[in-house]
Amino acid sequence: MERQKLVVIGAGMASGRALEHLLEASPGAYDITLFNAEPRGTYNRILLSPVLSGEKTFDEIVTHDETWYATSGIACRFGEKVLGIDRDRKTVTGEKGEVSYDKLLIATGSTPVIIPLPGHDLNGVIAYRDLEDTETMAELAKKPGARVVVIGGGLLGLEAAAGMAAHGADVTVVHLMGHLMERQLDEAAGYLLRKALTDRGIKVLCSANSKEILGQDGHVRALLLDDGTELPCDLLVMAVGIRPGTALAKEAGLAVGRGIHVDDQMITSDPDILAVGECVEHDGAIFGLVAPLYDQAKVVAKTLLGDDAAYVQREVSTKLKVTGCDLFSAGDFADGEGREDIVFRDPARGVYKRLVIEGDRLIGAVMYGDTGDSGWFFNLIQSGEDIGEMRDTLIFGPAYQGGAAVDPMAAVAALPPEAEICGCNGICKGQIVDAIAGGATDLGAVRVVTKASGSCGTCTGLVEQVLAVTLGDAYQAPAAQPVCGCTDLTHEDVRRLIKAQELKSQPAVWQELGWKTPNGCHVCRPAVNYYLLADWPLDYADDPQSRFVNERNHANIQKDGTFSVMPRMWGGITTPDELRAIADAADKYQVPTVKVTGGQRIDLLGVKKEDLPAIWYDLNRAGMVSGHAYSKGLRTVKTCVGTDHCRFGTQDSTGLGIKLEKTLWGSWTPHKVKLAVSGCPRNCAEATCKDVGIVCVDSGYEVGVAGAAGMDVKETEFLAKAEREEEAIALTVAFIQLYRENAKYLDRPYKWVAKVGLDWVKAQVVDDLDTRAALVERFEISQSVYRKDPWAEHAKPDTAVRFQPMADLTLEAAE
Ligand SMILES: Cc1cc2nc3c(=O)[nH]c(=O)nc-3n(C[C@H](O)[C@H](O)[C@H](O)COP(=O)(O)OP(=O)(O)OC[C@H]3O[C@@H](n4cnc5c(N)ncnc54)[C@H](O)[C@@H]3O)c2cc1C
Ligand code: SF4
Ligand code: SF4
Repeated sequence: MERQKLVVIGAGMASGRALEHLLEASPGAYDITLFNAEPRGTYNRILLSPVLSGEKTFDEIVTHDETWYATSGIACRFGEKVLGIDRDRKTVTGEKGEVSYDKLLIATGSTPVIIPLPGHDLNGVIAYRDLEDTETMAELAKKPGARVVVIGGGLLGLEAAAGMAAHGADVTVVHLMGHLMERQLDEAAGYLLRKALTDRGIKVLCSANSKEILGQDGHVRALLLDDGTELPCDLLVMAVGIRPGTALAKEAGLAVGRGIHVDDQMITSDPDILAVGECVEHDGAIFGLVAPLYDQAKVVAKTLLGDDAAYVQREVSTKLKVTGCDLFSAGDFADGEGREDIVFRDPARGVYKRLVIEGDRLIGAVMYGDTGDSGWFFNLIQSGEDIGEMRDTLIFGPAYQGGAAVDPMAAVAALPPEAEICGCNGICKGQIVDAIAGGATDLGAVRVVTKASGSCGTCTGLVEQVLAVTLGDAYQAPAAQPVCGCTDLTHEDVRRLIKAQELKSQPAVWQELGWKTPNGCHVCRPAVNYYLLADWPLDYADDPQSRFVNERNHANIQKDGTFSVMPRMWGGITTPDELRAIADAADKYQVPTVKVTGGQRIDLLGVKKEDLPAIWYDLNRAGMVSGHAYSKGLRTVKTCVGTDHCRFGTQDSTGLGIKLEKTLWGSWTPHKVKLAVSGCPRNCAEATCKDVGIVCVDSGYEVGVAGAAGMDVKETEFLAKAEREEEAIALTVAFIQLYRENAKYLDRPYKWVAKVGLDWVKAQVVDDLDTRAALVERFEISQSVYRKDPWAEHAKPDTAVRFQPMADLTLEAAE
């Protein structure tokens, strides 16, 4: 009987494997003709990256060459593209002629996505898909001084970048999202990866949007970003994704969605046409990694032989093939209700592991730095095995299973004296025990004597455990509270370490300071966000998602869910025009209550959330800016009328109040800050119960700090006397900057001063003129970034501002 004719389009990884299975099971079942657009047989496309970096040669990655196909009796038409399929006549037309088929297997893989940016068709703009692309990249990367831009911080883009950097090229990766490989990695692992790539000289720009590819004489010259940055380059690699190769199938009238539709047997909408690999869509899914394609290859071979088989989708895992960047990701690791995380970090070794558990099942895993147990975790995800019994030790991998639960205190007690406790300073248990015997009976004292836990601080818990097992009942656990359950570190520790270790992003803090959760929580995120923006105003971008509801909405939420809107009134001064605009806004938006606050401003209470952008817009157009009545920042500078109008006034208290408010507004502080300036000791502005209160006297200005008139009532303490107005302003600014740089988040100035002592504050702000000047300078630098009016930024009536649900109602006094 004449043999059936099988035509295969595409000699890629999927069809190569399918043909292997077919020939193994029944070598004589078909007369096979194989077309391949590439002028060669099958190679392991995955290993193009090691070829690019020079770790492998092309010959080493070939899996099915011409000889293999010839000995298997397959007629090969390499370098010949198929141009069309005629389903009625059951023929395919290649560039060199037609072939008829009984069965047709489409395995055309994917085509890389090229973003149609202006300039995308210039010479030197390439994708990363085949040997030709790899050779182009390798050739250019070897030229001295070669500059390369890679658009796309996913698997492919990073492998391209690392491969070219290995040849000495100057490589910049431009990534649209906030962290690298965002589909496979969480922020923390993305941070470690970025760090590893930066360490090997690759520049990484995240949250960067490409605008145009600039050329010269038809060749790429630079990439222009939408913020105006120009990145010069000789080669631009676009690695932004792939699209299933469906053109032939579509033209032939097969059912095609995102990919070629196939059923569980890998049969398309035409019973004589099958499809396999990246070109298919199965049950709504398309594929970009080889593991599922290999499963499909098995099924398609069986179907071609008339045997029963069904393709079932399975979880896939991802690894990055960049030497030195050990990374693994599998399953689902998005946050979600009912999901819990187990996180392990070892900052010194750059290790991060996160397991996501739902019920008693492991559903996702992300690992960086130590992926040795990834296979075991992957199995648990795939099998859905009950992990309830080993939950406590799961993160430590298979070696720890089956034993009794580990008692951490017993483990510390059992450590030998030479066991290292503090990695940064090389301090072992014996030295700490000796220090304790010598009288160091608390953490602080052990730190002073041995330096243990004095650097990165991640061994603090361990040092405390050594104290506890050595002193027994005599040990008093430190009173200092950790920031929250995500860390054992105190606020003070976190602040110190952010500065000492130059941590400039949230993921850097989570990783380097050993956070126990992937991204912090509603307690620590606002604090860390504040610390980062206070310490690194020019490097760190504020994260609105790490702010309380009032700050996110730029308005105070009231108890009925409406908002209060309050324009700034510099030093308590307003004009008839401003008052008219406020009155008009009150009418227009049907504001039920208009109130003069205790801080000399007008509060429009009861504004509907959806009216916020519009009312801001109206008020902003009349020249008013947000009063920041919601912010952890400067609220008001209350003033009296001073020399302008009062017969007792000794100085221009209103003028000074306005100057102070114009200097300080918009800056973020650990808590709200209120000021007042009174024109004489009669103190009509009540300056002696403010965070900073200035009382003008005949001979100058008396500056007091650390007062309070909220739940605690406290008189200010005398900071200094200034003879001139500029000096009073400098003292105020320096005090506030000192507070910004040192206080615990949510401590008002009076609480902070009580902790650090007024003498210390005076030493920095009053006695040491250089320190005062430096504080003022740092405040100004910070203001150059943060003195922004949120109303001007968001007040467009036609732009819907995204508001958060009103879950955490953080009510605060509106002044
Ligand atoms: C650089 C790189 C690194 C990768 N790394 C990994 C990894 O680490 N892990 C992983 O799982 N996956 C990785 N992948 C993805 C993996 O290579 C693909 O999933 C796999 O190759 C897809 O197999 P396929 O047979 O469907 O398509 P392909 O291997 O792309 O083969 C399709 C073939 O069809 C040919 N063809 C297309 N149209 C026609 C036509 N009209 N006529 C004739 N021939 C045609 C093409 O020329 C091509 O040779 C990587 C891919 C690249 C490019
Ligand atoms: S504080 Fe003194 S200057 Fe100011 S209004 Fe009162 S009395 Fe007048
Ligand atoms: S917080 Fe208390 S004192 Fe302040 S405005 Fe609200 S109710 Fe009044």
